[in-house]
Amino acid sequence: MKILVPVKRVVDYQLRVRIREDGRGVDADGLKMSMNPFDEIALEEAIRLREAGIARELVAVSCGLGACQETLRTALAMGADRAVLIETDVQLQPLGVAKLLKWLALREAPQLVLMGKQAIDDDACQTAQMLAAMLGWPQATFASKLLMGAETATVTREIDGGLETLELSLPAVISTDLRLNEPRYASLPNVMKARRAVIEVLPAEELGVDLTSRLSILQVAAPAPRAAGQRVSSVEALAQCVRTKLAEAPGGAT
Ligand code: AMP
Repeated sequence: MKILVPVKRVVDYQLRVRIREDGRGVDADGLKMSMNPFDEIALEEAIRLREAGIARELVAVSCGLGACQETLRTALAMGADRAVLIETDVQLQPLGVAKLLKWLALREAPQLVLMGKQAIDDDACQTAQMLAAMLGWPQATFASKLLMGAETATVTREIDGGLETLELSLPAVISTDLRLNEPRYASLPNVMKARRAVIEVLPAEELGVDLTSRLSILQVAAPAPRAAGQRVSSVEALAQCVRTKLAEAPGGAT
């Protein structure tokens, strides 16, 4: 079985981002970039399937600037067999990414596309769903457990009311949630090996895919700063404090 794993380059999740001066996005200049954490989980799951003898080949793909090669080298160091960069300097949106991934899925014919449920920069949570719809393949989003059969995948997914289990025929698109696994760190020898690996680079404009943006960002704003907390000495003082705050609130209770 071949598995395609899309990996996005995002600002590292441990960093705090600043709003750009023009208010149209965040300023990522000079910030550490990493693989989107949900994509690390997807890749880890794919590696485990290969280690279990279920998957044969893992292909990592990233869409975007040439710098995404760095993310692909991380994917190779973790355990991907091949890496493909679909290169463009167009500011990609989920629909554009889904179209590019569709193009590659048709070329590679994987039995499974295993990807993150959402990218932590835009938090769109749309690409997997769009890709499955455009390919006409079954989809299961937010997977917290995955069991692969010869022609089916059984996916436990997290929903508001608890857990839901779906059985999908292959090929399918599955997106991963946090609890699926804990990704491994790449070993130093594998990091060194990945530095020398060849990455296939496909210029997006040669693929005949329309990447025209459908969304315009009008304004990006930072959340309002949180007010400082207050220490109280006892439960009674806490209750009194809550009563006072409620009474002070607009239309406050008494
Ligand atoms: P989103 O719909 O943007 O929240 O992203 C969901 C998932 O789509 C991510 O976790 C990635 O697996 C994949 N994805 C999104 N953008 C890209 C990209 N530029 N390159 C590769 N994969 C991507």
